[in-house]
Amino acid sequence: MDTRSIVPVLLYHRIAWSANDRYAVSPSSFASHLQAILGSGRTPLTISELAEFLRGTAAMKRKYIAITFDDGYAETLEAVVALTDLGLKATVYVTTGLIGSLGMLTPEQVQTLASMQGVEVGAHTVSHPYLDELGRTEVEQEVVRSRQTLQALGCMAGSFAYPHGAYDASVRAAVIEAGFGSAAGVKNALSHGRDDPWAIARYTVSQSTSLKQVTRLLEGRGAPLAWTHERLRTRAYRVARRFGRRVSFGTRF
Ligand SMILES: [Zn+2]
Repeated sequence: MDTRSIVPVLLYHRIAWSANDRYAVSPSSFASHLQAILGSGRTPLTISELAEFLRGTAAMKRKYIAITFDDGYAETLEAVVALTDLGLKATVYVTTGLIGSLGMLTPEQVQTLASMQGVEVGAHTVSHPYLDELGRTEVEQEVVRSRQTLQALGCMAGSFAYPHGAYDASVRAAVIEAGFGSAAGVKNALSHGRDDPWAIARYTVSQSTSLKQVTRLLEGRGAPLAWTHERLRTRAYRVARRFGRRVSFGTRF
């Protein structure tokens, strides 16, 4: 594969000091990641822009990077402002049922994000379920209603992110049916030019992710490339998850 087509897509949750949330990345670590991203010489993209490449509508002539934030924590706005001040771009996936809750983005903050240059706001369902465990009607409601809520706030909501990275063929089809032009998975892998635009590989950056590891990802190393035999891997993961739920309760992506 042309290494130029490898695209690290970073997934952040909260940018905050927190000893008991292992997905919270401290503001100082985050700042060092942003400097590494600038130093990598990669061109920032929103997920919708990346998806255009993956759908084959444009040639990938540079090395790219995408930065995403899931769930819609209140601290996301400040982090995205810091990032855009440096000329970078971000995609923020908001769990719409949590908008306005304690510690989460308010409707006004979601609107502010959507109005910022280089920022895309996407949907992350209403209630953050494992979509591959729901019936078809429930999946449709989670997918369609989250999009409608964001659109009512003036967001394009062109992209979707699967909570916990969990999806299967019918969930993916429901996302396409709802009108989303792209979707982000998790996979903890590097995306690339032949990745699925409706299941884009991302790498979760958590409290334990070192700057060295982030730098490796920016070099297109340090994680596998997104696989192509999607369904098999997802199914195996789901079985493992059901089996391990009692001991891994509280795990999220
Ligand atoms: Zn999430």
